[in-house]
Amino acid sequence: MAMLESGKPSFAERPTQEAKQGQNKPPIAILGAGLMGRMLAISLMEDYQVFLFDKDSKEGQQSAAYLAAAMLAPLAESADCSREIMQLGEMALALWPGFLKRLDTPVFFQQKGSLIVAFEQDKSDLKQFKSRLKSSDYKVVSDAEMEQMEPGLNPHLKSGLYLPNEGQLDNRQLLNAMASTLNNSDVFWFDHMAIESTSSGFQVAGEPLESFLNESIHCNSRSNSHNQFDWVLDCRGLGAQADEALKADACDMASNIASSTKMLRGVRGEVVRIRAPGVHLTRPVRLMHPRYPIYIAPKTDGLFVVGATQIESEDTRNPTVRSTLELLSACFSVHSGFAEAEILGIESGLRPAYLDNEPKIIIKERLVSINGLFRHGYLLAPVMLQQCLTILKGSTDEESFTQIMPKLVENHSVKPRR
Ligand SMILES: Cc1cc2nc3c(=O)[nH]c(=O)nc-3n(C[C@H](O)[C@H](O)[C@H](O)COP(=O)(O)OP(=O)(O)OC[C@H]3O[C@@H](n4cnc5c(N)ncnc54)[C@H](O)[C@@H]3O)c2cc1C
Repeated sequence: MAMLESGKPSFAERPTQEAKQGQNKPPIAILGAGLMGRMLAISLMEDYQVFLFDKDSKEGQQSAAYLAAAMLAPLAESADCSREIMQLGEMALALWPGFLKRLDTPVFFQQKGSLIVAFEQDKSDLKQFKSRLKSSDYKVVSDAEMEQMEPGLNPHLKSGLYLPNEGQLDNRQLLNAMASTLNNSDVFWFDHMAIESTSSGFQVAGEPLESFLNESIHCNSRSNSHNQFDWVLDCRGLGAQADEALKADACDMASNIASSTKMLRGVRGEVVRIRAPGVHLTRPVRLMHPRYPIYIAPKTDGLFVVGATQIESEDTRNPTVRSTLELLSACFSVHSGFAEAEILGIESGLRPAYLDNEPKIIIKERLVSINGLFRHGYLLAPVMLQQCLTILKGSTDEESFTQIMPKLVENHSVKPRR
């Protein structure tokens, strides 16, 4: 039997349906091992035999999850999103510690609030921002109070707001901790294995395994095949955009999802990671900026994540000079200690978003697509996860987050679920 490094069978040697049934756990396929795919795999692995597929390596460098600043800032985000997203974000923040406890290794998670600051010339932007916040759970802070909270800040920052309940985590630590937890479980994780949508279903087309090019994953097939799953969860983020190419008149599950995901788009973001052991910030600082909010988020060991730009474009080029200058000057203007910081990386990527910038869970029979998390993936992930688990269990309205946001779930199923 060909074995993976983890000691688990390779894709070619994965268990047959009979063997899977013998394990007494129903098989479930998760497409995409970014943020949502990994979280779902961990939450489902006790009750299901999980088969996780990703086109990328286990480091997940191609995911939006890898790039993110991982701010958990429901109130600050509410200036530019709906009240419902803010409420779901507040609920998700309370759920994060419980999820993190399930991981093999610790992950930096902090809830010490965030500080929103502005220079004199941007004072009116801050006032405007404050008027757009969808809750009054903030405090206006004087420059003396700011100095007390974050002693090293530029003394020319005259106006500030303190949002006491905001949080953040270290996204790369989280992705690694989830990978380690999954590697130590009975989950079958097939990396470097792209899933493609065709007019006849999903296909597994991993480069090194060309012999499987024509195998389709059918949720409802009753054959005793390798690829029969009780549920298929599509967590491919922007990778699901390829479904758009499918014709709307095809009647397979992939194209049905395609008709719903046709409005999926990428929203460009650029992020700088720097190491500045000499700079001490207790919490993320968000600087008012005319084009987009810029966070300076202190993680551990002197690491700061600065970002992110938000540009309405699917441009996948490396970061531009303009964006890099804006991000770096924001740092330097907030705290002069950043002058000697080491630049670890400047990266760009795309956030998966629907036209309304709100997430959706789309159900089509036994296929569930979780997508459109936009700039709120970390903010909302625990709630999206709970909502999926509720759907898989057979949801009741009382347990559902659709009470707060009715359009969170779209059910396109023809057949009632069993
Ligand atoms: C610059 C930037 C900053 C951000 N900052 C924040 C923030 O501060 N706070 C916050 O809450 N959110 C933030 N986000 C958003 C967050 O990262 C995303 O919302 C979240 O990662 C989406 O999760 P996902 O699982 O849907 O997609 P992803 O994390 O992108 O995962 C999708 C996975 O699917 C895989 N895949 C794609 N196509 C295929 C295929 N055909 N076959 C197999 N596998 C496939 C990919 O390799 C990837 O691993 C930021 C995003 C960016 C880009």
